[in-house]
Amino acid sequence: MNAHDSERLAGLLDEAGYLPAADGETPDVVVFNTCAVRENAADRLYGNLGHLLPQKKNGMQIAVGGCLAQMERTRIIQRAPWVDVVYGTHNMGSLPALLERARVRNEAQAEFAETLEMFPSLLPARRESAYSAWVAISVGCNNTCTFCIVPSLRGKEKDRRPGDILGEIRALVADGVLEVTLLGQNVNSYGAEFGDRGAFGKLLRGCGEIEGLERVRFTSPHPRDFTDDVIDAMAQTPNVMPSLHMPLQSGSDRILKAMRRAYRRDRYLAILDRVRAGVPDAAITTDIIVGFPGETEQDFTDTLDLVRRARFAGAFTFRYSVRPGTPAATMDDQVPADVVQERYERLTALVEETTYAENQKLAGTCVEVLVAEGEGRKDAATHRMSGRARDNRLVHFTPRGGAPRPVAPSPPGPAVPRPGDIVTVTITRGAPHYLLSDAAPLSVRRTRAGDAWEAAAVASAASPAARVPLPLGMPAGRQPD
Ligand code: SF4
Repeated sequence: MNAHDSERLAGLLDEAGYLPAADGETPDVVVFNTCAVRENAADRLYGNLGHLLPQKKNGMQIAVGGCLAQMERTRIIQRAPWVDVVYGTHNMGSLPALLERARVRNEAQAEFAETLEMFPSLLPARRESAYSAWVAISVGCNNTCTFCIVPSLRGKEKDRRPGDILGEIRALVADGVLEVTLLGQNVNSYGAEFGDRGAFGKLLRGCGEIEGLERVRFTSPHPRDFTDDVIDAMAQTPNVMPSLHMPLQSGSDRILKAMRRAYRRDRYLAILDRVRAGVPDAAITTDIIVGFPGETEQDFTDTLDLVRRARFAGAFTFRYSVRPGTPAATMDDQVPADVVQERYERLTALVEETTYAENQKLAGTCVEVLVAEGEGRKDAATHRMSGRARDNRLVHFTPRGGAPRPVAPSPPGPAVPRPGDIVTVTITRGAPHYLLSDAAPLSVRRTRAGDAWEAAAVASAASPAARVPLPLGMPAGRQPD
């Protein structure tokens, strides 16, 4: 959600006439889009603000928004009086006006609304990618997981109308986008606000009718609200991808209860069985927290057992740490850090073993890859390109002709894939965190998204400030890279 919000902030500033600072140039405005879910978020924010203080002499403006700003509110201005603007999670659209007011009045501005007045999706955006886009379907959450600060900072769930969502997706597709990821804290409860419990399944089917939209993903579903009509929609809508990221958090019923996660391990496993029955090639990934207060060795063993049974294709694993303001922060029986660390290492080793075994099964298969930009950190050195398979697995492949990197405009000759194009490759090897194809692609399909990437790259070469990437902080933790 924060990456989506950062794109909106950049779009808002673009529209207000701000230009991205070039590499090495000191910016006139710095915006921190904070996330309170991250460990030590407040310490990091104040550390970063302290580093910027010397530059304030040059007239720089500093703004702080996002969940942590909603939590800290005016404390930020008290602790760092050189900050110019603080705004809450519901006030993102006010950023340009607040910057202007702070400048004119020469005093710090703060704005916090208690309820959402406008969906961030209605704000202008500068998208990070030419081929892939986030689309928020709801904001906020009605659940009360005891480790989570989101409900108190983002408020109750607010659902967008399906027509608005599908209209935004159509506009994105007209702009060259091939893939959308539907975003919500709990996509399975989408529609509760306007009284349609089947709304999420219908939304997936609605996406299936959008011509030119090739890939639909969603995050995150909640096992409590996951219903069979969604599985049917996944199975029967060809552009809904065979992947599912469904947070588990713990494999122990006792701990799930303490987390106030209103499902139990049997229900979780039954959903996986039904998804696999309807979508046999689905890759399933998850989130797991280790060391929640009161977690015993038996509880942890239950988590390991569930991981073995679930055959996950990847997992984000997190060591539990106290988040101030959450119910779990004051629970008895906090697990000692060394015990958490030891369990964490056992869990990550098991996840790696499981994902490696699952990936190895794919050697020799053909997969369709949406070529991506920035997914393969070693691509330049290995002369490979990277992208995501339909099941969202990361694939590194050798492009036809061994061209190490795409260039724009495209040179004449055999088609070299560009980010946004689609290639079909044969997997030669599965590794723990990715699939590898060292054979030349079986096919390269040039797409509208690839054309859009190329047009943006040409524009960027002509005017470097036109396409400065957004520095989007991604969650810390172990990731299935
Ligand atoms: Fe937080 Fe739970 Fe809501 Fe997810 S479902 S946002 S973990 S309260």
